[in-house]
Amino acid sequence: MLALGVLPVAIACSEAPPPPETDLTQSQETIASSGDRVQIVATFLPMYWFTKAIAGDVADVELLIPPGSDVHEYQTKPADVRAIANADLIVKNGLDLESFLDETIANSGNAKLKQIEASRGIEAIDRLSPVVEPLEEHGEDHAHEEDKNGHDHSHEAGNPHVWMDPVLAQQQTIAIRDGLIEIDPKNRSTYEANAAAYIEQLKQLDREFQEELKPYSNCSFITFHDAYPYLAQRYNLQQIAVVEIPETSLSPGDIQTTIEAVEQYQAKALFGEPGVDNKLLESLSQDLNLKLYSIDPLVSGDLDPQHYFKAMQSNLETLKTACKPLS
Ligand SMILES: [Zn+2]
Repeated sequence: MLALGVLPVAIACSEAPPPPETDLTQSQETIASSGDRVQIVATFLPMYWFTKAIAGDVADVELLIPPGSDVHEYQTKPADVRAIANADLIVKNGLDLESFLDETIANSGNAKLKQIEASRGIEAIDRLSPVVEPLEEHGEDHAHEEDKNGHDHSHEAGNPHVWMDPVLAQQQTIAIRDGLIEIDPKNRSTYEANAAAYIEQLKQLDREFQEELKPYSNCSFITFHDAYPYLAQRYNLQQIAVVEIPETSLSPGDIQTTIEAVEQYQAKALFGEPGVDNKLLESLSQDLNLKLYSIDPLVSGDLDPQHYFKAMQSNLETLKTACKPLS
């Protein structure tokens, strides 16, 4: 029966070598088994880590935005459209960070696609940290300017960098776990056990941050990416963000703001980021006689979910060193 069924196809395709029957069988099996496993797309690295940690071996997790890409400036690629069209679930941070995907999702024709916003229910901090009041010339045109740059952060949505706080990261992990259980209840016990183990590690990390940063309460630092207000709030530090998002160059106004903020807040350090050209910050650090450190917003690095802890440990060391009083 099977051989007869395949025969006409082989004749019709006689120009090309007919696919061996075994291949056909294999690919059918692959489709059958991947149809069985839940297909998940996670938007960027922290969402991937949390999701992968929970999914373990029982679901397939794909990362959309490659490590090291700027999430704020990302533009959708054809492969992303395909991934979203084939997924059962997309895991997003939310707070408008991934609003650039809205259209792709709407146009994907994927009626079965479920979405999780891991920040759902989390009380957001205002998008702009207090020091960075929008300049007057930005006033009315602010939203348009952001659209032009390919990101559309409404101020109402709040600052999206929730994953930088190990406590809120637990809430995000729970939101993702519950979403996975909802679409794939047969693997509930696996998701629960995996999430519990990851949350235990996040709790341990939080204890270390609490303990080790206790002596440096109110330590203020200057960043050029408004990515650390949740981390700062959690551990009684003060982030002074000079620009709203990572910018390719600092304006003379930004430099002026930095100088004023250093004085006003008695800032302990300047924080640049890995993979960013820090030349301007280096000279600023010399001029201000303030040390420049590198802090990691966790959008680059290894795909292993354990990388979150490695990078955060390194951030903890950086914060301790930067906040230590000079003696
Ligand atoms: Zn950011």
